Amino acid sequence: MPVYEFKCECGEIIEELVRMDTKKITCPKCQKSATKILSPCTFSLKGGGWFADGYSSTKK
Ligand SMILES: [Zn+2]
Repeated sequence: MPVYEFKCECGEIIEELVRMDTKKITCPKCQKSATKILSPCTFSLKGGGWFADGYSSTKK
């Protein structure tokens, strides 16, 4: 199964191994539904969500 990226409205990006026809998964942070990012290449970085997990970053 391929890895897909899902984005939640809380800004969380989740990478999951899911079936191709999976449209949504449950966000592990807020338990809301995260929707599949169909075209990661066109995903705008200016949203801020991409870097929102600064706490897990190795650099300070
Ligand atoms: Zn969420």
